[in-house]
Amino acid sequence: MKMKPSLSIRQLTKQFDSNLVLKGIDLEVAAGRFVVLLGPSGCGKSTLLRTIAGISDPSSGGIWLKDRRIDAMPPEQRNFGLVFQTYALFPHMSVEKNVAFGLEMRRVNKRDIAHRVAAALELVGLADYAKRLPKQLSGGQQQRVALARAIVIEPDVLLFDEPLSNLDAKLRDTLRDDLRALQQKLGVTSIYVTHDQSEAMALGDEIVVMKNGEIVERGTPIDLYRRPAYRFTAEFLGMTN
Ligand code: ADP
Ligand code: MG
Repeated sequence: MKMKPSLSIRQLTKQFDSNLVLKGIDLEVAAGRFVVLLGPSGCGKSTLLRTIAGISDPSSGGIWLKDRRIDAMPPEQRNFGLVFQTYALFPHMSVEKNVAFGLEMRRVNKRDIAHRVAAALELVGLADYAKRLPKQLSGGQQQRVALARAIVIEPDVLLFDEPLSNLDAKLRDTLRDDLRALQQKLGVTSIYVTHDQSEAMALGDEIVVMKNGEIVERGTPIDLYRRPAYRFTAEFLGMTN
């Protein structure tokens, strides 16, 4: 397996008018690690992820992929796979066309596209669904297509923004376990955003706790559970009353 690069975010800020939404974020994600970014609604998680993806520009600070500074690069050059809360599939395109789209944009040749799309659909468990349209799939299956679309480009980094929050509980657990297994298999450096504590505990190599545009704590799930250094984390994880 090719070693994936680490991701470094340094002193990142984002301001919307007078509203400072990210207040100087420092975050290191080691190569191949799965970091969960946990925090309540409105604390700036999506803004941070969108900035890392390049969909939104930072007000100041920088982002590095290993030694390469990327924060001025357009999003399509970053080679990041994105899986968001809404699947955002093209409704008129078949599953395989949806997954192939990013490769066609990158002018990969047709033969390779066919191979890679088939391999990605196999990995997410949708090999038999290639010819279907998104509307013929369940929400969980559509999110699997979105996952296939994210991994088919062989991304350096995977970014997840509450990818399970639109699914019912049963589907959520299965997809959660499957996407984690897949991430481990591929060894892709990943950031996974959620406001759900149990999801964070189940998924993260490390959990980074965010509050009000700042990172207030970080540790392994066990670390945070045993000794939250910061009162907010204890409260947020429901360990005080
Ligand atoms: P989270 O994902 O943690 O729920 P967000 O990153 O979506 O939080 O939002 C953080 C804050 O930034 C909120 O106060 C939100 O209103 C504000 N915000 C997000 N996007 C924009 C935008 N495009 N313009 C103005 N304010 C925004
Ligand atoms: Mg959000």
